[in-house]
Amino acid sequence: MPGTASGPRATARTAAPRRRRLARVKAVFFDIGETLIDETRLWTGEAERAGISPLVLFAALGALIERGADHRQIWELVGVERPSPPLLLNRSDLYDDALPCLEQLACDGYLVGLAGNQPEGVAEVLEEIGLPVAVVASSARWGVEKPSPEFFRRIAHAARMPPGEIAYVGDRLDNDVLPARAAGLFAIFIRRGPWGFLHAGRPEVVQADARVGSLLEISGLLRERPARA
Ligand SMILES: [Mg+2]
Repeated sequence: MPGTASGPRATARTAAPRRRRLARVKAVFFDIGETLIDETRLWTGEAERAGISPLVLFAALGALIERGADHRQIWELVGVERPSPPLLLNRSDLYDDALPCLEQLACDGYLVGLAGNQPEGVAEVLEEIGLPVAVVASSARWGVEKPSPEFFRRIAHAARMPPGEIAYVGDRLDNDVLPARAAGLFAIFIRRGPWGFLHAGRPEVVQADARVGSLLEISGLLRERPARA
């Protein structure tokens, strides 16, 4: 069940520093795949183009996630060649809560950005969609991938803020939450998509600064005040 790290199981000892860190946040950066973008159409389309059942591809993806392996090994695992060129996302792939969330955060005065591990062309498509964000970046554009600490340094550089003033929202513990937290950002875990549901059951999930089930929770979460403001 979604909830923040200040839920019933958090102690006053952990909640107060968390609220102080939360109060510093001035920018919110988002992962792209399965955080803002529902990849169901893309994975289904790739399976159909490759001539295999989407169910088989989904099962293979789950197996790779559970092993902690790179999802790009999926074609090798199912023994077929990846269809070329890869399908690109479009506006219809945005989760229903993505645009309202981005608009609300921009309206609340946060600097909002997108930065995810994505291949060539995706950042350009996101710019064409015209989302209300100040920064659009990707691993292809920066030449560095999560979970590298350099990726999160690039976010801070793009935001022109120290890491402690930036929140990062993502659906993966290994690529998003844990490295963002290690880099000093306020890490928000969203439980959705294949990684989100599988990673939500791992013990390290408690290391997220906050956990949500919908992007619509983020604006309210960020408005929580420190105990002694
Ligand atoms: Mg993702």
